[in-house]
Amino acid sequence: MSEKTKGQEMLEMLSYKKKNVFEEASPEEIAAIYDYARGYMEYLDNSKTEREATEAAIALLQAQGYTEYRLGESLSVGDKRYFNNRGKSIVVLKIGSRDIEKEGIRILASHVDSPRIDVKQNPLYEDSGMAFLKTHYYGGVKKYQWTAIPLALHGVMVKADGEVVKVTVGEDAGDPVFYINDLLPHLAQRQSQEPLGTAISGESLNIVVGGLPYADKEVSDKIKLTVLSLLNEKYGVTEADFLSAELSLVPAFSARDIGFDRALIGSYGHDDRVCAYTSLTALLHSPNTEHTVMLVLADKEEIGSVGVTGMQSDLLTDIIDLVSAELSKNPILVRASSKCISADVSAAFDPNFPDVYEKRNSAMLSSGACMSKFTGARGKSSTSDASAEFVGYVRRLFDENGVIWQTAELGKVDAGGGGTVAMYIANHNIDTVDLGVPVISMHAPFEVVSKADVYSAYKAFCAFLK
Ligand code: MN
Ligand code: MN
Repeated sequence: MSEKTKGQEMLEMLSYKKKNVFEEASPEEIAAIYDYARGYMEYLDNSKTEREATEAAIALLQAQGYTEYRLGESLSVGDKRYFNNRGKSIVVLKIGSRDIEKEGIRILASHVDSPRIDVKQNPLYEDSGMAFLKTHYYGGVKKYQWTAIPLALHGVMVKADGEVVKVTVGEDAGDPVFYINDLLPHLAQRQSQEPLGTAISGESLNIVVGGLPYADKEVSDKIKLTVLSLLNEKYGVTEADFLSAELSLVPAFSARDIGFDRALIGSYGHDDRVCAYTSLTALLHSPNTEHTVMLVLADKEEIGSVGVTGMQSDLLTDIIDLVSAELSKNPILVRASSKCISADVSAAFDPNFPDVYEKRNSAMLSSGACMSKFTGARGKSSTSDASAEFVGYVRRLFDENGVIWQTAELGKVDAGGGGTVAMYIANHNIDTVDLGVPVISMHAPFEVVSKADVYSAYKAFCAFLK
């Protein structure tokens, strides 16, 4: 073996170089990476809305002995509980033996809502041989991506008597799916000249839900009536029940391996169920942690973390107050010594669109979970900007536990930007930093992540809870 030159030695010692998780992994580790992805893909297929993601999380928690917690119930060391927030978000508690005034709570916060197409309150009409539902999109979508693909309907309708009816159509092999029309290229001459943002308007995102006229010459709107009669037959609902409903259209396809080597996963909703699943399984696989752990799967991140199920709600501090009171600790001191990873995705560098990225500071696919010290836009506006000391702390933790990770900034300065729940947690005097999985085609109906990065995020969260 030839000796290294002085310069080669210096280079190795002094310079920083990103690693590729697959390249560093042993054959056994690669098998573990692929194996872990299978469980994640199963979770994805069962979790296309925040309600379903919450339900799927509860099933996993209950299987590990977690029980439902209601606000105000007593808590003690060793407890494993979850608070179900209106079926749409969840706060998991594992009460550890260490003093939470001195060591704080370890908080992992991700979100389980994803961009989608929501149904309006008075949606059903017919026109020109088709019945449609009017919609209002949810979150940051590129509207043209949602036309001409198979869509599934998920959600609930609350009947006049208060009964909640669960609706899921388009997921089973024999189910019909739904559809948003697009213009044929032959007639799209003017549309093709339009900017992407205006080529498809919000009010044209109407969902095709029927085409068969009701067999009665005496009624008008026959196709609409067929749809209503079928809904009534299957769910016992009437048109008025749309008024008190929460129905969403999501892509009807399931998670799939991508590539000859199956290294990547294509799916709807990686943002942010990839962090929800990795943080949740990290907690479930860390039974011996002595820390008190709080895991949040939040709703409404895609529209600003608002409302009773969003991260800006008082629920986070309410639960910290309740935990502190039960353990006879001062919640102000508990928050001051708590640490949080805001677990959310970032943009992976995409060589097809290099212009919007700054390559040195973008997340590379398969280079591990990515940490964003800050997010925001236009001069770091609206970010919590974690301190160098806290980033240093997390860095040591990852290095000690063999986690391959990288830093990430979401695109070039002034190319755009984005936010996460980090600042809403940091505002409560809790050190917080963003860490998540790099995503290709974020917010598209079919997003892509690397199995290596999913596993790296899981390992990172395990290290945080150790
Ligand atoms: Mn997100
Ligand atoms: Mn998002």
